[in-house]
Amino acid sequence: MPEQEMYAVLHCEPCEDCRFEAWQRIVDGRLRWEESQSCDASGVYACGGGWGPAPEWVRERIVACEGSVRLAVGGPDGAPLKAVREVFGLSLPQLRHAREHGVEATPVEAQVLSAAAGPAEPG
Ligand SMILES: [Zn+2]
Repeated sequence: MPEQEMYAVLHCEPCEDCRFEAWQRIVDGRLRWEESQSCDASGVYACGGGWGPAPEWVRERIVACEGSVRLAVGGPDGAPLKAVREVFGLSLPQLRHAREHGVEATPVEAQVLSAAAGPAEPG
C-alpha cells in the first residue's frame, strides 16, 4: 500500500464556511500546483503548493472546476512519452498503460504537453 501523504494542515474542522481552491500554472516552463484553504468562521488561511504532479485531491478539484481533455500518448500525434511521464509522475507500467489508452489531462497539463510536443526551442 502506498503511503498517504498529507500536503495541507487544516486549522479548523472543515465547516460550511471553509473554502478550498486549487489550481495549476506554468512557471518557467515547469508545471506547478497551488492550493489554499480559507475560513471566514474561524479566520484561518492556509496554502501550499509544489512542483510537478499535483496531489490527487488537488487534481480532483481542478478537474471538477475546469474539466479534463483526453490526450493520445506517444506516436506521431501523441504527447511525448518523456513529457507525459514527468507531468503525471508515472511509473513505467503506468506509462505503458497511458500509451495504450491515452491520458486525462487538465487544461494546464495539456498546455505543458503540447508545448513539449512542439518544435525544438528556437536558437
Ligand atoms: Zn471552517
